[in-house]
Amino acid sequence: MKKLIFASKNPGKIKEFRAFLAPKGIEVLSLLDLSDVPEIIENGTTFEENSLIKAQTIMDAYQLPVVAEDAGLVVEALNGEPGIYSARYAGDHDDAANNEKLLKNMQNVPDDERQAKFVAVIVALKPNGAKLVTSGEVTGEILREPQGNDGFGYDPLFYYPPYDKTLAELSVAEKNEISHRGQALDRFAEDFNAWWEEV
Ligand code: IMP
Repeated sequence: MKKLIFASKNPGKIKEFRAFLAPKGIEVLSLLDLSDVPEIIENGTTFEENSLIKAQTIMDAYQLPVVAEDAGLVVEALNGEPGIYSARYAGDHDDAANNEKLLKNMQNVPDDERQAKFVAVIVALKPNGAKLVTSGEVTGEILREPQGNDGFGYDPLFYYPPYDKTLAELSVAEKNEISHRGQALDRFAEDFNAWWEEV
């Protein structure tokens, strides 16, 4: 069976990605299935650079096709913060601390200047050099207090005007339909076959 590495340790994302590729007869390995995973030094300055660094580091180590993803929140009034530092804005993957810091840094930002977007970039690389990059964005506003119990990360603070709800008030399926990651994944799915077959 053909193999591909999904460069993630997030069980939810891995499950989703595996389900997507299973019908194509491709076995998906994740960073949870591999031993001696090299340290990934995400020192890029954009989502795309960091995604590429992840994919390249893992491909160099295992010589298999790799798919990596990087995502985050970009707030206009904060000059793009937290951006590529979204996961470790206040504490590493500490959602509560990150949200608290975001609210504090935005306490003096007026209601009509609270626009923000989530961005996701997917990079796929093969040992023969074939590369595929897709991305997605969703635009909304940062509230002054959390609202909703679902989702993760900054979802409870991210208000999506077309639905009059935060992303933490949407079901997984509803969120995937409009989210940055959902869009990047849809585009990836469209171009996947051409990338996979490229020699
Ligand atoms: P990752 O690259 O998908 O792990 O995302 C990095 C960080 O960006 C996460 O730890 C969250 O803080 C934030 N983030 C990315 N996507 C989302 C989302 O869909 N909702 C809320 N926060 C997100």
